[in-house]
Amino acid sequence: MKTIQHFVGGKSFSGQSKRTGKVFNPATGEQSAEVRLANTKDVDTAVDDAKKAFELWSNKPPLQRARVMFKFKELIEKNSKELTEIIVSEHGKVFEDAKGSLSRGLEVVEYACGIPEMLKGDFTENVGTNVDSWSIRQPLGVCAGITPFNFPAMVPMWMFPMAIACGNTFILKPSEKDPSCSIKLAELLSEAGLPNGVFNVVNGDKEAVDALINNKDVAAVSFVGSTPIAKYIYENCAKNEKRVQALGGAKNHCVVMPDCDLDQAVNGLMGAAYGSAGERCMAQSVAVAVGGIGDKLVNSLAKKVESLKVGPGMDKDSEMGPLVTKDHLEKVKSYVDIGEKEGAKLVVDGRNFKIQGYEKGFYMGGCLFDYVKKDMRIYKEEIFGPVLSVVRAKDFDEAIKLVNDHEFGNGVSIFTRDGDSGRTFSSKAKIGMVGINIPIPVPMAFHSFGGWKRSLFGDQHMHGPEGVRFYTKLKTITSRWPSGLRSDPEFIMPTMK
Ligand code: NAD
Repeated sequence: MKTIQHFVGGKSFSGQSKRTGKVFNPATGEQSAEVRLANTKDVDTAVDDAKKAFELWSNKPPLQRARVMFKFKELIEKNSKELTEIIVSEHGKVFEDAKGSLSRGLEVVEYACGIPEMLKGDFTENVGTNVDSWSIRQPLGVCAGITPFNFPAMVPMWMFPMAIACGNTFILKPSEKDPSCSIKLAELLSEAGLPNGVFNVVNGDKEAVDALINNKDVAAVSFVGSTPIAKYIYENCAKNEKRVQALGGAKNHCVVMPDCDLDQAVNGLMGAAYGSAGERCMAQSVAVAVGGIGDKLVNSLAKKVESLKVGPGMDKDSEMGPLVTKDHLEKVKSYVDIGEKEGAKLVVDGRNFKIQGYEKGFYMGGCLFDYVKKDMRIYKEEIFGPVLSVVRAKDFDEAIKLVNDHEFGNGVSIFTRDGDSGRTFSSKAKIGMVGINIPIPVPMAFHSFGGWKRSLFGDQHMHGPEGVRFYTKLKTITSRWPSGLRSDPEFIMPTMK
């Protein structure tokens, strides 16, 4: 059985811990590897290496750091097929979707290539007579990233290209369910000329995460995952005096207005609810049918959900792959049981889906609920699978109230042909990312990604301009060069004259 190691100090690292976890190919249900699960000592070794590497790396001119990013970009492009296959083999999503997620990560590398421009400071000549003042942004030190299973390339790439380009060193603790992609990215960074110790991967579970958040040399933590763990990370990093951004779970709504182009809304919803088997933080798991559009919407959706092509991610015909693990598959199915018991109408039931030749794979078909009510668990909780709930709302105001009353605030969309509805919606929605006739409004790398409410604990969103702010601290320098005239001591608060 293959063992997936850590990557520390520019090379493969086994560490001392003897604990391992199992990695599966979700398409076949077979175990494909075991992954090392680091202990505190292993994490501390990686942090020490990263701390040493910081001295050199943080002093490199931003242009030199950018050049490593340019080279890394080329290498990702050259290795994109292999990286995509790694994602498919451990996550299960279909090949083209995995490829798309890699390019969304690559975008951040491209953005990070412009770091010399982003780190240009502000300068004011003569803030007072013969006094100049300027502000610069400096790196923090060792930064850590803790990432979820659902985007093994893209989510880590929201973090480390920005952190490294800003002059920090980085420890990535990827999901133990699909760790291989991070190791490949680490190897490519080394090949791109990144000095040893600047980027490290430590595989593990709670023990490794706790070691990172308790290590005094880790200056900042970026987390993406479920809300309970995001809250835990946020609270404990704050307690340990670390800078933290912790992105959590979601329950994204898609508001379907009676005046919308229904085909567009249905197609948008199909991709957004069932793409990547619903295992996306921007998946739309709730469709809010406004006014009289409910029956037409549910009928159109039902036909498409029934004919969804579910199969292995490497099969070109598959539109939806398996779920990530058997446990997760059982959890998602159990939510469908709950929905039925709660009294929602199960219009399409994908629980018993089987595929010949892949009987042990973690598959289920798409599920569609109608008449879901806001007090049901299937409405309130994140299912993170191919289950779409249709809620009926009498008008626009009721729809926006549903969106705003929900505990999560990651993404939301509205389908309408009416500019006023679209504009009012985007202004009033208490949500971080809003789409108007766009089903999955994931911002590009040069904007920033993040939700509101219990979908993000912390102040800064990820990548883009917010990424630069998160991974640097501001320093303002005020300077006067003596001109021969000596001044007397001043005992009052300095004001510029
Ligand atoms: P998860 O919270 O189970 O795991 C995320 C990370 O935390 C992993 O690296 C894991 O090893 C670690 N972890 C798990 N349990 C822990 C514990 N008790 N203590 C310390 N660390 C722990 O999430 P997941 O199942 O891997 O990913 C799915 C979740 O991630 C969903 O809730 C999804 O919405 C969310 N997500 C959010 C975004 C976003 O941008 N808001 C993006 C992607 C995924």
